[in-house]
Amino acid sequence: MDTVFDVAIIGGGINGCGCAADAALRGLSVVLLEQDDLASKTSSSSTKLIHGGLRYLEQFEFGLVRKALNERQILLNVAPHIVRPQAFILPYEKHMRPSWLLRLGLFVYDHLSRNNKLPKSRSIHRKNSAWFNPLFDTFNQGALYYDAATDDSRLTLLNALQAKNHGASIRTTSRVTHIERVEGLWELTIASKAKTPYTIRAKSLINAAGPWVNTVANLANAKDMRQITLVKGSHIVIPKLYSGNHAYLLQHDDKRILFVIPYQNNTLIGTTEVNCAGTPETVSISDNEINYLLETVNHYFKHKVSKKEIIYTWSGLRPLLSDDSKEMQHMSRDYAYTVSKSGAPLITIYGGKITTYRQLSVEIIDALRFLFPQMGASTTQKTLLPGASFNQMTFQDYQSYAINQYPWLEPSLLNRYLEQYGTLMEHFLAPCTSIASLGRHFGGSLYQQEVDYLINEEWGTTAEDILFRRTKLGITHPEINQVALADYIEENIFIEVT
Ligand SMILES: Cc1cc2nc3c(=O)[nH]c(=O)nc-3n(C[C@H](O)[C@H](O)[C@H](O)COP(=O)(O)OP(=O)(O)OC[C@H]3O[C@@H](n4cnc5c(N)ncnc54)[C@H](O)[C@@H]3O)c2cc1C
Repeated sequence: MDTVFDVAIIGGGINGCGCAADAALRGLSVVLLEQDDLASKTSSSSTKLIHGGLRYLEQFEFGLVRKALNERQILLNVAPHIVRPQAFILPYEKHMRPSWLLRLGLFVYDHLSRNNKLPKSRSIHRKNSAWFNPLFDTFNQGALYYDAATDDSRLTLLNALQAKNHGASIRTTSRVTHIERVEGLWELTIASKAKTPYTIRAKSLINAAGPWVNTVANLANAKDMRQITLVKGSHIVIPKLYSGNHAYLLQHDDKRILFVIPYQNNTLIGTTEVNCAGTPETVSISDNEINYLLETVNHYFKHKVSKKEIIYTWSGLRPLLSDDSKEMQHMSRDYAYTVSKSGAPLITIYGGKITTYRQLSVEIIDALRFLFPQMGASTTQKTLLPGASFNQMTFQDYQSYAINQYPWLEPSLLNRYLEQYGTLMEHFLAPCTSIASLGRHFGGSLYQQEVDYLINEEWGTTAEDILFRRTKLGITHPEINQVALADYIEENIFIEVT
């Protein structure tokens, strides 16, 4: 109880971890408290796009789109191993938005951000492109444009690692149950799987609890709470629907749009948008949502997708700032935050996107300058995320280097390690010279060296943490022996008990 942290953060999603990284890089002492696993909630349930959001142009959200496009380029620069350019095909059909409107929208999208280095959009036609092959013959023209895709939970983890590497204390399975201002400081009570409940103190508090933001705001007795609407979005994963690495943007009759994206050698389809009646703890896809997704895809693709092809689903909640004058789908996706300076400062974060987490984190930590006047400016715009230091090489060069360095690794396994870890894979590959030296085999492409790394360095404490958030092997290799993995983790994890 002796330590007084500069900043305590509640919530280990992308926004909490982004704030932890920004603050730690500026030299502040940080503790981050996550009730479950890092990225276990909204930040592993997104569509996994780092994008400006083409459709927000229709709602005249130019500021949000410009900010997000700027961030897209920054994230492509600082994390090229997990943020990748993604080509999108936008098929055009007469009854949809007029083609001139789509062209205008794409022109604005191409030019809104000055630092954008992705190729510009262009019109395409069935006659001279294979992209239309999987689509019904009624779709003959459209546009090609670029955005970026990522692995949302790994992006979150990389921010937590960045924070840890700069001194932050990242505590998972640590639920904040009581919050009080005591003598100008915050006192938080934490219920943890590993320890009996304990208390920590901090000079400032950031509420980054996502869909639970107002539950935590209530605990903190916040006076400036804002009303939120929880909107559920669901996705399905089916076996690869078409060949190629491009994605599709489909327009539904109801004016909503839907993405069809290559995902882990399969195809990801999402998302829906439904008002959430239940509690944040119990979100899952409904039959209506499945039908909605299938109906839209089957309107475009020749291969008729059926329910039984679904391999995996996930749902997440967007905590949007309520706006009585707008329908749910028109409520802003931009973030907002309140800063309370009476007594120990409290910052409460509402909404946001994976794409804009970095800019949000800069603003949040800047807002604490009155408390930490010596603090430097944010450096996250130029600081590579862990795994992205390729020693003057580009990621492509590093991929070639790795092929020479680890000739005994199967190309598909090496590729998975590269795309998941970048140079972080060297942590667990350094002592290895053969497949046998990767240690115990749990099935699929999962070996002990990787599991040990994930337990020791990336806070993995359960089979689910490892199979679904740190890797996606739970989706791609369901044959992995989850019981054996869980037993192994149980035997090998170091739990600090007080
Ligand atoms: C369906 C869907 C699709 C999306 N697609 C995209 C996309 O393609 N691109 C994009 O940029 N954005 C997308 N988003 C938005 C993006 O996913 C969210 O903005 C982002 O993940 C929010 O992160 P967060 O850190 O605020 O919340 P979360 O990730 O939910 O993190 C909050 C954390 O707080 C923890 N917590 C709560 N209470 C406590 C407590 N008392 N003690 C300790 N911990 C606590 C929770 O366990 C949780 O882990 C999408 C969102 C949804 C729902």
